[in-house]
Amino acid sequence: MSEIRIQGIEKIYSGGISALESLSLEIQSGEFLSIIGPSGCGKSTLLRLIAGLEMPSRGSIEVSSRERLSYVFQDSHLLPWRTAIRNVALPLELTRMSREVQLTKALEALDLVGLKEFANAYPNQLSGGMKMRVSLARALVTDPALLLLDEPFAALDEITRQKLDEDLRKLWQLKKMTVVFVTHSIQEATFLSNRALVLSQRPGRIILDRRLKLPEHRDLLTKTSQAYLDEMAALYRALESSKKEEIE
Ligand code: ADP
Repeated sequence: MSEIRIQGIEKIYSGGISALESLSLEIQSGEFLSIIGPSGCGKSTLLRLIAGLEMPSRGSIEVSSRERLSYVFQDSHLLPWRTAIRNVALPLELTRMSREVQLTKALEALDLVGLKEFANAYPNQLSGGMKMRVSLARALVTDPALLLLDEPFAALDEITRQKLDEDLRKLWQLKKMTVVFVTHSIQEATFLSNRALVLSQRPGRIILDRRLKLPEHRDLLTKTSQAYLDEMAALYRALESSKKEEIE
């Protein structure tokens, strides 16, 4: 089933900056799609358009489960005066759920990201990776059908990032949600996703839409396999060709 259908969109910001150009795309329910491209090529714009936070200047976007989507940003955006569990429970406070159910669900979400023991810690007692896990738990607490992530692990060290990448893939497999993941790391996109889009320099156009032929279960050793290196090479070549287009 098609979860997201984007037809011929263009996004021109006030001031005349054209961020995206004639972009069409269908994302199936349950896919893990990464969007890669140079800084400023319109990746975040595309994510915001999918979320309905922005409107396209031209073209159309249909998202079948927009009321069940969650968004994770690069910064964890935690409220410093709230404990981890109360940060995670925040989206549920807008519902009619009893406080007890809210906290039970928040604790379950923290358990999913491996932080149950830190439920009562404040953000300033947590490492960068742990804060990002809390942010992920807050996104998962509403049981989203569609999870949008905008470079969530970019500020983390490589080992922490690798662990979060592995855990995010496991969560995707467990929850069977649709994931759209923006990154400018080709390595991360290859490791995480089943399908990768490479965008050109601004205004972003799709220069490669590729299904990655890699095993469903992935761990650090996946990165040593020939299949992983081949997939990564295909994405690098696409990025390089877009650079040449710019110069010519
Ligand atoms: P990316 O996520 O790929 O780095 P963005 O989608 O953030 O790129 O931005 C694409 C282009 O649109 C950039 O040139 C950026 O400066 C511009 N842009 C993004 N948001 C706005 C805005 N609200 N108003 C004007 N220009 C914007």
